[in-house]
Amino acid sequence: MLIKRVHARQVLDSRGNPTVWAEVLTQKGAFSAMVPSGASTGKHEALELRDKDSAFGGNGVQKAVSNVNNQISKAVSGKDFSSQKELDDALIKLDGTKNKSNLGANAMLGISMSYTRALAAEKGIAVYDLVAQIAGQKRPLLPIPQLNVLNGGKHAGKENDIQEHMLMPMNFSSFSDALQAGAETYHVLKKMLKKKFGSQATLLGDEGGFVPPMENVEDRLELMLLACEEAGYGKKISIALDCASSEFFENGKYSIGAKSFSAGELSDFYAGLVEKFGIVSIEDGMAEDDWQGWKELNSKLGKKIQLVGDDLLVTNVERMKTAIEEKACNSLLLKVNQIGTVSESIDAALLAKRSNWSTVVSHRSGETEDAFIADLVVGLGCGQSKFGAPARSERVAKYNRLLQIEPQLARESVFSARILRG
Ligand code: PEP
Ligand code: MG
Repeated sequence: MLIKRVHARQVLDSRGNPTVWAEVLTQKGAFSAMVPSGASTGKHEALELRDKDSAFGGNGVQKAVSNVNNQISKAVSGKDFSSQKELDDALIKLDGTKNKSNLGANAMLGISMSYTRALAAEKGIAVYDLVAQIAGQKRPLLPIPQLNVLNGGKHAGKENDIQEHMLMPMNFSSFSDALQAGAETYHVLKKMLKKKFGSQATLLGDEGGFVPPMENVEDRLELMLLACEEAGYGKKISIALDCASSEFFENGKYSIGAKSFSAGELSDFYAGLVEKFGIVSIEDGMAEDDWQGWKELNSKLGKKIQLVGDDLLVTNVERMKTAIEEKACNSLLLKVNQIGTVSESIDAALLAKRSNWSTVVSHRSGETEDAFIADLVVGLGCGQSKFGAPARSERVAKYNRLLQIEPQLARESVFSARILRG
């Protein structure tokens, strides 16, 4: 497909920080995408280029925008690329660094995602169908959503805290039923919090979950289970956590609230939570470079629940290969901006699949109204999404896209539980 021209602009994300909007123009029209941005970022992620000058407290992305408008534009405008991979490989070669620090992963991803949309239009198919073709996935699937209803840690201005407490509506026969159960439970939880603590407790964190004055993780989980009961769903909804533990790891110790844990003690703590609250998935239970801690955790809980690597893996096949060899976890958190191109994101999902791991396609805490990852999760057919609370438009844009896709899929390919249980 011939790219006529590309360009980019600086726009704002859900936190009011600048991010990259990019556009690819072809014979079929103009196709654009916006790039998300994390707060609890892993240190091994591809580089997000920020201006570090006086504008927006140093968070401007004009350098990345300029890289699209100059270097990338020169390399791809007027050129014919036969596939997503050919375009992405050209971007990777042009950047020439391991962590995309030359062009910036934000510049590259904006063009990579826009190209996916342009190519789908060229072929006259939906973006999720194109992703399925590239991934060799015969059955596009709607995901089971992980809905982040209680926000903590960096997303709520807190320290030494579990970051995400999520509802997983597992036992439903369609995505829309699962989402409805999650949204209803979210509202029941809101009422319970208001009754218990007053309206202040229902203010929202970065991902749309509530931030109540509840310091104890067990109290939070207890309340979530009560909300599930009261909403009438009981055991049809399970609980997942993203501990984002790199944020509370220092000098070999993990601190949650006033408590300090060794990796072994933290594994025991998690095992207790799994037992008591029926948790089915824990993300970043250990810190990004604590391989020993991950191995201990995986040998303790990996047969029983899903252990998701986010900061550990950073959607990077090289880090995944180490994790597979070391038996460090059993699931990939896939974030497109951690690696910077669509092709490499799909490669990570394919490696997860070959390794008998599950994959959870994820948003970032800084998002936009772009719903690309909704098509991505369906096309990959990996069965799980993590797009935040069922509230705030930058989160809901993804859920609403999934609701639009649902009737387009064959009945038998609509929904499938893919929690890894060893
Ligand atoms: C996460 O840690 O999984 C997450 C979505 O947060 P952030 O985007 O801040 O890394
Ligand atoms: Mg995470």
